[in-house]
Amino acid sequence: MTELSADWVLPVDAPPVEGGLVRFEDGAIVSVGPGRAERHFANAAIVPGFVNAHSHLEYAVYAGFGDGTSFGPWIETHMQRKGILERDEMHAIARCGVVDSLASGITTTADYSFSGAAATACAELGLRATVYLEVFGGSAEDAQRQFEEKLETLEENVLVRLGVSPHAPYSCSLEVYAWCLSLGIPVGTHLAESANENDWLEHGAGPLSALATVLQPPTGLRAVASLEPVLGPDLLCAHCVEVNEVEIALLAERDVPVAHCPRSNALLGCGVAPLTALRESGIRVGLGTDSPASAPSFDVFEEMRAAVYTARGRERRADALSATDALRLATAGAAQALQMDDLVGTLATGKRADLAVVSLAGSPYHPVEDPAAAVVFGGSPDRVLEVIVDGKTRYQREEEVKWQEVRSIASAARSRMLVQQP
Ligand SMILES: [Zn+2]
Repeated sequence: MTELSADWVLPVDAPPVEGGLVRFEDGAIVSVGPGRAERHFANAAIVPGFVNAHSHLEYAVYAGFGDGTSFGPWIETHMQRKGILERDEMHAIARCGVVDSLASGITTTADYSFSGAAATACAELGLRATVYLEVFGGSAEDAQRQFEEKLETLEENVLVRLGVSPHAPYSCSLEVYAWCLSLGIPVGTHLAESANENDWLEHGAGPLSALATVLQPPTGLRAVASLEPVLGPDLLCAHCVEVNEVEIALLAERDVPVAHCPRSNALLGCGVAPLTALRESGIRVGLGTDSPASAPSFDVFEEMRAAVYTARGRERRADALSATDALRLATAGAAQALQMDDLVGTLATGKRADLAVVSLAGSPYHPVEDPAAAVVFGGSPDRVLEVIVDGKTRYQREEEVKWQEVRSIASAARSRMLVQQP
């Protein structure tokens, strides 16, 4: 039996416990309540490990590529530079992405993987993940070939589940979506991320036209309507920025889960997703960091703050998203969106022992008035002291130096992309 305690424990599905104790055994939580363990974290909070509803670990060193260009040219730069990499470099970058995620307190990630390297990296370094292998194109047969090629070198284990990701409605046909959904494994896509996407799908126009040779032909419909025949509870949709009232109602009616990525959407100039309307319609929403290719980092604290800023700014209401609700989006909400809430997302008896210890010492929110606000507004990766996945310590701040080699190999791959860029 392992016991950890802290000045605060935030179970998320129950009120914060001042002077709380978490006990776990064989990777599962045995109890959560008041108490003090031999290992007590003073001036700190124990929270459920964060569940990242949308990531690309393989883009961990892509920060700033195409910054300041619109969605079409940005994705073009991204594709050109990615094309330079060898498989072992993609793997090295994915390992760096895993370390960055763990360092941010993330214990589960929903990763859309171009090469499959993310699955290997998660298994090696102990990050729980659903890894959705990306497929592109118009033909189900071709998608199956891409999927099986990526699958060949991969194995599932206790932490890593494999899924499939038809990339987006402008890069995959409905036939491909239907084939993916027929596999009975997790399926995730990008949906309604930008106005550029709707311009292409509806009119064959806009900046995405530059990529016309690799895109699906226009459907004459907006993004959500383009996917209408396949929308359902098993299709995780990242972004959903360009959705109107009627489209939100359709997503809600079909119980389509959404990954909300406010930093990525803002930085690419795509807009601000209507988070309040999505939540009020009953849609399962989780928070996603996306990747440094669009958001600058896997920093889930920054993502929670961005969710608060953008929701309150968009709605012009200070109560549009509370710190408690932001924390829920990054834990229990994301777990529900991934259909993993039986395993993770809260600190509760019987759930897997996935947790993060966040120091609050010296933050502007300490001494603590509202512990959720202290974590959301005062937290940052350099305050994450320890991260436990499935009962095992996978990251400790005091041992950060041991990850230097992982980071420097990934950094060399970034240098090569910059030097050899077309
Ligand atoms: Zn993405």
